Parts: sequence; C-alpha cells; structure tokens
Amino acid sequence: MTDKLRPEPDPVAQRRRRLNATLRDSGVHDARVLAAMERVDRGAFVRGVFARRAYEDMPLPISCGQTISQPSVVGLMTQALNPHPRDKVLEVGTGSGYQAAILSLLCRRVYTVDRHRALIDEARGVLSDLGLANITAFTADGSFGLPDQAPFDRILVTAAAEDPPGPLLAQLKIGGIMVVPVGQSDTVQTLIKVTRLVGGYDYEELRPVRFVPLVEGLGTE
Ligand code: SAH
Repeated sequence: MTDKLRPEPDPVAQRRRRLNATLRDSGVHDARVLAAMERVDRGAFVRGVFARRAYEDMPLPISCGQTISQPSVVGLMTQALNPHPRDKVLEVGTGSGYQAAILSLLCRRVYTVDRHRALIDEARGVLSDLGLANITAFTADGSFGLPDQAPFDRILVTAAAEDPPGPLLAQLKIGGIMVVPVGQSDTVQTLIKVTRLVGGYDYEELRPVRFVPLVEGLGTE
C-alpha cells in the first residue's frame, strides 16, 4: 500500500490508546476498569481550550472552579472501589460526570451529587447524550449522603474530607466499600479505603492524592 492509500491515522484514537497504556503503567490492572475507561471518551467531559488535553494524564479545569480528576487517579480509585455489576453506588462530587460515566458501566445504578447546580446541569446533558441511563445526578450537599436511596454497596467521594463523613459511613451496607480522600484541603491528602464490617469499619491507607475540598452547603453557581 502506498502512503497515499493508507488510512489517515486518527490522532484521537491514538491518544486514547496511549492513555490506556499510561493507566496500566500507573497500576490500573483490573480488566473491567480498563475496558470501561477505554469506552468512556474523556474528551466529551472537557470544554474549550482544555479539550485538546483530554487524553493527557492530568487534572483539568471544569466550570465553577472545579477539576476533572487525573485519569490514573480515576482508574486507581475505581479499582479500589471494586464495583460489582449488581451494585448501587453513590458518588459524591459529580464534577464533569466522567467518573460517574465509568461507574455506570461497572454497576447497576449510580447516584451522583454535586453542590454546584451548573455542574449537575452540564453533566446531565453529557451523560444523557452518551445514553447512560442508569445514572441519576442531583444537586445536593453530599456530606450528608442520600438518605432516601441508602444503603449503598459502594460510595466514592471525589473531594477531600477532613475525616470520612459520618452520614456516609452510616449509609454503607455491611460488606460495602467507601473510597475517600482524607486530609486538610491545601496539603497532600491520603486516599482511604473503608470497609464496613459487622461490628465496625476497617480503614486502609492507599496512596497520597490531591483533591479539591469537600465544602459544606450548596454552591452559588
Ligand atoms: N468526579 C469528578 C471530579 C470531582 S471534583 C469528575 O469525574 O469530573 C470535586 C467535586 O466535588 C466538585 O465538582 C465540587 O463541586 C464537589 N463537591 C465539593 N464539596 C461537595 C459537597 N459537600 N457535596 C457535593 N459535592 C461537593
């Protein structure tokens, strides 16, 4: 085949493949998580000048002064959460909706909440365009969880709390897992995996991370 007849290389497809290799190098080895991350196009969740950086392993700005997390961190958190196909999951911190989209491919039902209405409106649009029908997104202060939908098999918090919030611990099923970044907002935080046991909770420290803080109350935007 001459060069003229060879199909044009698709730069987006190439960048998505490269991102998948980066995820593996970062320790994401769960085949289901890798497959879900390959299917969800991060480019759909990033706007404006940052869209061309969607396939780089870095956090990027979204509306309301928030960020879409770094793909390798999304992969490691999802892997630590160990979601099962029958699970009902709560995500606190919808942001762009990217993490919720990945969870929706791995679980039965995803509830996701953010304190900024503008982010929820935008995320709902993207998630429905992608045809992901098992996600419900609400504007709410997620530090109180979602009592009406509790208990949850899995809870993923994508903003940093000083301690795992009590209402979220209470809304976890026995045997359930919560993954949450814990620490002071402006310093390095630690990603914690909490497992609810019959008589208490088991806490495992996973790795240092850096997230925007979990803030009380609803946002003004
Ligand atoms: N998971 C997101 C990234 C989250 S950034 C993604 O995939 O794009 C953290 C988000 O947590 C921000 O959007 C912020 O508004 C939200 N947040 C912070 N405190 C909150 C709270 N108390 N309740 C709900 N959302 C909160």
